[in-house]
Amino acid sequence: MKWSSLTRKLPIKWKLTIWSSALLCILFVSYNILQYVVMEKWSINYEKQNSKHQLIELEAFFKEKSIRTPSELKSYAQYFATINEKNQLIRILDDKGKPVLIVSHSVPSSWVKPKRVVSLQYEITYHQQERLLILRSPMTTFAGTIEIVRNMEMFDDFQEAFFFVMVATGIGAIILSFLGGAIIAKQLLVNVQAMTNTVKRIKKNGLNERVPVNDTNDELAQLGKLFNDLMDDLEQSFLQQKQFVEDASHELRTPLTIIKGHLTMLNRWGKNDPNVLNKSLQSSLKEVERLNQLVHELLELSRAESESPDTTEWETVDVSMVIDQVIRNFENVYTDYKFRKIRSESLYINMVARHLEQVLVILLDNAVKYGQENQKEVHVSTYRMQNVAKIEVKDFGIGIPQEEIPYVFHRFYRVDKARSRKQGGNGLGLAIAKRLVEKYGGTISIESKEGQGTTVILTFPVVR
Ligand code: ADP
Repeated sequence: MKWSSLTRKLPIKWKLTIWSSALLCILFVSYNILQYVVMEKWSINYEKQNSKHQLIELEAFFKEKSIRTPSELKSYAQYFATINEKNQLIRILDDKGKPVLIVSHSVPSSWVKPKRVVSLQYEITYHQQERLLILRSPMTTFAGTIEIVRNMEMFDDFQEAFFFVMVATGIGAIILSFLGGAIIAKQLLVNVQAMTNTVKRIKKNGLNERVPVNDTNDELAQLGKLFNDLMDDLEQSFLQQKQFVEDASHELRTPLTIIKGHLTMLNRWGKNDPNVLNKSLQSSLKEVERLNQLVHELLELSRAESESPDTTEWETVDVSMVIDQVIRNFENVYTDYKFRKIRSESLYINMVARHLEQVLVILLDNAVKYGQENQKEVHVSTYRMQNVAKIEVKDFGIGIPQEEIPYVFHRFYRVDKARSRKQGGNGLGLAIAKRLVEKYGGTISIESKEGQGTTVILTFPVVR
């Protein structure tokens, strides 16, 4: 419990370092243990084979010399001494188990107790620090036992040295892997640290800080880029919001200033002059109406911007029907205008009918607002091109200068501010229309010639 809470608190750098060192340590230790065991087995086998070889040689000698009794052995003592190897004892016992011949090279006979056997066997014993491999076998030429004792000192010395080397290299490897792990972890975490620092700076200084991204294109660099993109979007939207609030306040201020002017004037000296009173009240009422309209449009814009499309509300809208209805309403209000349907293919779009109506009202309203005295006509066309439903609203009004067209969709943008204001425009209509159309995967574009007229083209994905 304590350990896990400790590791959880550790920085990633240390976690990576410790894990890499621990893994390497385990790997190294297990490899060395395996190597040690294999070597041990191999060395014992090697010694066993040597002893066996010696035994076969001795027996062949006994056969050759036809030695039948232990007493005959004595005369060959010199020979045994020469064939005996270093660190080896050869001892022959009679049928009672008493040694009758002992030749030794650095292995005193007292180290091993004599023992009779009836079949070949190996034994490993220790005399103090010395490890001894004993081969015992019954003699074939006479009743007795032959013992060959080998001191494994050489292997043991070798293994001891090997063990020390192993431990030393193991410790070295762990230290190296610890350092390596620390360096790799540091390299990996440089970007993360940079990001942390950036977030800290953003908290302190604002949204314009960015993470320094190197050109490695690895996962961390990609994360850094993504983070910067996100910050760009966030900053952009933050600035837009700020701009919007500034613009909206500015727009609201104009009618308020006018109303205030009238009220101040009335308060000072207009109260008793019915003419001034009436004029001021009329102007103030007009401004209040404008304020009302502005607030209404702001609300519509905010809705169009924020609402994510709720597809459950969508219906299959018969475009002609909606257009007919909007035209009828306009004909009632603008009796001097002619609204004509030029091309009328039957079209169906998946959307909220109210939104299509709202867009058409904005477009027809503009067509009328920015019309010319002698050209009081508006044409509406609907047709289908491949899978796209197109709706065009064409007027023959004052038009929009080519360079201004891209801006008319911006909030509060008006080509001729004074004229627009006179017509009751706040520069929000096309902004609202654009957002509504785009909500349904549609587009809105404008073609216009100054002094000749404007065509607004809407496209929507058509219902199959
Ligand atoms: P507004 O409420 O001011 O009409 P819009 O967003 O609807 O705001 O339009 C933005 C500006 O684009 C208008 O102020 C006007 O200058 C210009 N505009 C829009 N429609 C037309 C049109 N049919 N003819 C000429 N100018 C237009």
